[in-house]
Amino acid sequence: MINRYRITQSIRTILLLAAVSVSIGCSPAEPPDETVATPIDSDWIDLIIAGDYVVTMDRDSNVIPAGAVAINDGLIIAIGTAAEINAQYKAKGHLPGENRIVMPGLVNGHSHAAMTLLRGVADDLALMDWLTNYIFPAEVEFVDPEFVRIGTELACWEMIRGGTTTFVDMYYYPDVVAQVAEQCGLRAFVSATVIDQRSPDAESAADSLVKGKTFVNNWQNRNSRITPIYGPHANYTVKPDQLAATREAANDAGVPLSIHMAESPFELQFTRDNFNMSVVEFYDSISFFDGPTIAAHMVWPTADEIKILAERGVGVIHNPTSNMKLASGVSPVSEMLNAGVLVGLGTDGAASNNDLDMWEEMRLASFLQKIDKMDPEALPATAVLKMATSGGAEAIGLRDSVGALEIGMRADVIQVEFDDVHFVPTYDVISHLVFVADEQDVASVTVDGRLLMRDGKFFTLDTERIKREASELAARIQSALAMRNQSTEE
Ligand SMILES: [Zn+2]
Repeated sequence: MINRYRITQSIRTILLLAAVSVSIGCSPAEPPDETVATPIDSDWIDLIIAGDYVVTMDRDSNVIPAGAVAINDGLIIAIGTAAEINAQYKAKGHLPGENRIVMPGLVNGHSHAAMTLLRGVADDLALMDWLTNYIFPAEVEFVDPEFVRIGTELACWEMIRGGTTTFVDMYYYPDVVAQVAEQCGLRAFVSATVIDQRSPDAESAADSLVKGKTFVNNWQNRNSRITPIYGPHANYTVKPDQLAATREAANDAGVPLSIHMAESPFELQFTRDNFNMSVVEFYDSISFFDGPTIAAHMVWPTADEIKILAERGVGVIHNPTSNMKLASGVSPVSEMLNAGVLVGLGTDGAASNNDLDMWEEMRLASFLQKIDKMDPEALPATAVLKMATSGGAEAIGLRDSVGALEIGMRADVIQVEFDDVHFVPTYDVISHLVFVADEQDVASVTVDGRLLMRDGKFFTLDTERIKREASELAARIQSALAMRNQSTEE
C-alpha cells in the first residue's frame, strides 16, 4: 500500500514537471498545457491557479495571501491558501503564483469590437460630427463579414491580452462576432444591432429586427459562453415603435437589451424637442425598462432619473475614456452608485478610445470622479475595481456566474504579474491593480477553466495571421479614404 502510494506520488511529480515544461513550447495551434498530462487517478482536477494574493471580489472582498483557486469542469470548486488547496487536490495543470495576483477576469460592459479596424481613422471630433460624418459613412462603405471577422479577432486578441474575459458587444453581422467569440474562448453578449438608417447588414430598423430575431434564435442555447441579445442603437437613431418592438422581441426570447443612453447634450436636446421629456423618462414612458437593460454611457441623468434607473434595475455601463475623448460629459457615477444603481465599466469601440484596456478605464473612471467632484475620496480603488469585475457582472445580469472568485462560479480567472518596476514597492495590491496595472501586466487568462493566454502566448488565436489580415484590410481602407478625400477636394 505504502509502495503504491510512493510510486503514484513520483508519477504525479513527473507528470506535473512535464506539464510545466511542455507549456514553454506552446504555439497558437497547440492546446493549452493543462490538457497535456494524462491523469492517473479519476479524482484529479483540471487546474490550480496560485498567487501571492488571491483578490476574490466576493461579497466580503476577501483577499487571500499565498492563495490558490481549484478548477474542475470549468467551475471554481475551491479557494483557499495554496497550502490547503495543494494538500486537498491533485491537478493536471498548475499556474504557479510567484509575483502574481489572482483575480476574476474583467467584464467589459460595452464595446464595438470590430471597430478596432477604425482605430485612429477619425479623432478629435464631437460625437455627432464623428458619428454622422465619419463613422456611419465609413461603416456603410467598408463593413462586411470579413471586416467584422478580422476586427473582432483583433479585439479578442487585445481583450485577452488585457485580462478581459467577458464583453458585451454591439455591432453588425452579429453571427460573425458570435463565431469569433466562440472560437477565441471569451464569454460574450453579442447584440444584433437595430437601427433605422441603412446599415452594413440591414436596410431599416424593421429589417434589422427581423434579421436580429433569426440571429438570437440561432444562437440561443448553442454555447453557454455566448448570449445573443438585441442592441437598439439609441433613441435618436431608432424610432419609439421600433424601440418598443425590440424590447418585446428581447422579452419574448428572455434576453437583455444593450443600448446607448443619455450619452451627449445632443441626445438630451433631441429627446426634449421630439418627445418633450428627458432621456430616461422617455424610455420609461415606453416601458423600455420592462426587462433586463444594459444602458451604456448614461452621462446626463438627473437626480429623478437616477431613481428610475435604480428602481428599474437598469445596468449602467460607464465609459470614461470615450466620454472624455468625444467630450460627451462626466457621468454622475458616484451619485448613481450611492442611489443603488448597478454600474459597470466599458471601453466603447476602439474608434473612440482608442484601445480596449480596462485597466486604463478603471484609472480614468476614478480620476474623472475625483476631479469632477473636486474630492480625492470620490470613487476609490475598491469601488472602481468592483465596477470592472463583480459590479460589472451584476450590471449585465451575470453576477451569479462571473465577476468574482466564489465556489460554484464559472472559472474566469486571470493572473496579473506584479514584478515590473512600476509595482515596486507593493503596499496595497488593490491600489496597484487600479492605479498602476495595465494590459501588459496580465500573465494568464482562463475562461470556463480553459487557458486562453499565458505569458504572452495565445492558445486560441493565430496572432500573426490576424495582424497580417488587419494590416492588409487597413491599407485598403486607407487608400479608399484617400481617393474619396481627393475627389471631394476636386
Ligand atoms: Zn458605444
